[in-house]
Amino acid sequence: MKALMIEGEGTCVLRDVAEPHPGPGEVLLNVRHVALCGSDLSTFKGLNPLVSLPRIPGHEIGAEIAGVGPGVPSEYAVGRRVIVVPYTSCGVCPSCRKGRVNACRSNKTLGVQQDGGLAERLVLPYGKLILNDTLAPRHLALVEPLSVGFHAAARGAIAAGETVVAIGCGMIGMGVIAGAVHRGARVIAIDIGEAKTRLALAHGAAHAIDAGREDVVARVMELTNGDGADVVVEAVGSPATFRQAIDLAAFSGRVVYVGYAKEEVSYKTQFFNMKELDIRGSRNALAEDFRSVVDYLEALQTPPDDLISRVFSFAEAPEALPYWVRERDNVVKVMIEI
Ligand SMILES: [Zn+2]
Ligand SMILES: [Zn+2]
Repeated sequence: MKALMIEGEGTCVLRDVAEPHPGPGEVLLNVRHVALCGSDLSTFKGLNPLVSLPRIPGHEIGAEIAGVGPGVPSEYAVGRRVIVVPYTSCGVCPSCRKGRVNACRSNKTLGVQQDGGLAERLVLPYGKLILNDTLAPRHLALVEPLSVGFHAAARGAIAAGETVVAIGCGMIGMGVIAGAVHRGARVIAIDIGEAKTRLALAHGAAHAIDAGREDVVARVMELTNGDGADVVVEAVGSPATFRQAIDLAAFSGRVVYVGYAKEEVSYKTQFFNMKELDIRGSRNALAEDFRSVVDYLEALQTPPDDLISRVFSFAEAPEALPYWVRERDNVVKVMIEI
């Protein structure tokens, strides 16, 4: 069978690889849709320290069951569709012992520390699969990236009636917005450019601020009677927005960092104390976040196709990452249909 392989910095090719076979407790999948993640893009650019090459990327996967090994429960029947949970936790580290398996010290994600889903077929333990025959097949591949934003909303303990600032309206930010709206919050979304801010409004943000044209702090203060936000979620990963999150939070507010800053960030820390902020990190997602996203998507009146910027066929797959590099500012999600 064929698989997409990142072989070196900026080099991506379709290769013949060995056909996988399901062992005990394992399921053979026909991969249908794989959405590309920022981490796949980092791997392609040679900037992902967690990856050794060559690597088959892809962990945002929608698939169909093609076969089962011995000992797999009967509901995992051939032809049923599944969402893949792409993480593997160790079970013994401090995070795992607290049930926070998403933050496992030794987490292995498909396409990062092990080969991923950009192949015609894939074998996984049945426990990594969420059965779903109701969502459109292409939307199954959106569940994992949205779950990461929903998890950040959960880390912020966002409650109904609260005001939430979401900094960044990429895919993770859109998950934060949807997750916060799903929890009954009023969301103020921030990004640069009209395309992203319009998308945020279409997905339930009450207000959107174009940071390229407006004074963000002044606008947020105006929209919150001078208080700032109950919760600020940073989903960009730049030092400026890491600092801005502190400025935009109300006294006794919460700040969640889901963006990954690739450089050091310096702070004046007095507001940590003066505002008595709760500052929390967020990473990956839990099974309950996947379930919340499925509930959210199943209830949507308008399908979330505006999150999918472009779909490539598998034959065109080597073009997908270079396309994303060129169109960085305009892309929310690039998907490959196999
Ligand atoms: Zn991802
Ligand atoms: Zn662990």
